[in-house]
Amino acid sequence: MTVWICSACGIEHSNMARPPARCAICSDERHYVPPGGQQWTSLKEMAGRFTGSFTELEPDLFAVRVSPSFGIGQRGLLVRTPAGNVLWEPPGYLDQQMIDEATALGGVAAVTASHPHLVGSSITWSKAFDGVPVYVNRADHRWIRRPDDVIRLWDDRQEIVDGVELIRCGGHFPGSAVLNWPAGAAAAGVLLVGDTLMVAADRASVSFMRSYPNLIPLPERLVTQIASTIGLLTFDRIYGAFHGSMIAMGSAEAVRASAARYIGWIRDEIRDPDEPGNARDH
Ligand SMILES: [Zn+2]
Ligand SMILES: [Zn+2]
Repeated sequence: MTVWICSACGIEHSNMARPPARCAICSDERHYVPPGGQQWTSLKEMAGRFTGSFTELEPDLFAVRVSPSFGIGQRGLLVRTPAGNVLWEPPGYLDQQMIDEATALGGVAAVTASHPHLVGSSITWSKAFDGVPVYVNRADHRWIRRPDDVIRLWDDRQEIVDGVELIRCGGHFPGSAVLNWPAGAAAAGVLLVGDTLMVAADRASVSFMRSYPNLIPLPERLVTQIASTIGLLTFDRIYGAFHGSMIAMGSAEAVRASAARYIGWIRDEIRDPDEPGNARDH
């Protein structure tokens, strides 16, 4: 029996003698099967070809990256707190060296992710740390690829350890969430957002989509729902899912302004002044 990992999304699947015929995550309209077709691997097959390590992003926040990049290629984030550490969006790959590094940082008390695309090998990570809870939003339960007793379903808000809370925003997936860590950014507050909000290339704004790779937008209703949910939280800094993606400060205003911009464009209330008929001099 083997825990199969989809090579395209890096998500582990149940213990099975043979790999599944297809990956439900990659066959969904929000992701894609690469040109080479569906491929599967396993931790055993990957051992020695990949490495991973933790680096500090700010006090008590560490990124775990795998090299070469694997699956969707997110960085995992480890939030260190006096009540235990939370591992957010772990990569699909892990090995003993990565487990040793996480142990040296205080271990892992809980594992979770913003949504089903970025769960990686969450169950294997949990089992490496005595089967700590893996939190999955109830609205996304049908996307669980490796059912296990360590999974705990949650609804709208869930404290994971003292001072770290999950908040459901919906949008990209109905259970899409952010993680709020008010002690982060020197107590100005941090949000880990995955792609519930996508930190844009300018590192000063965000966007919102049903599918990022396939460019399927969200309606105003869901963008308003996300922005109003986020608007209740205390934070100044946002960390996105990928290397370098962050808005260092002023993030609450950036989310508000980004949602207003998005809604302005889809309502056709914002016009490019150079478009014929949109007079520049009005
Ligand atoms: Zn996949
Ligand atoms: Zn996604």
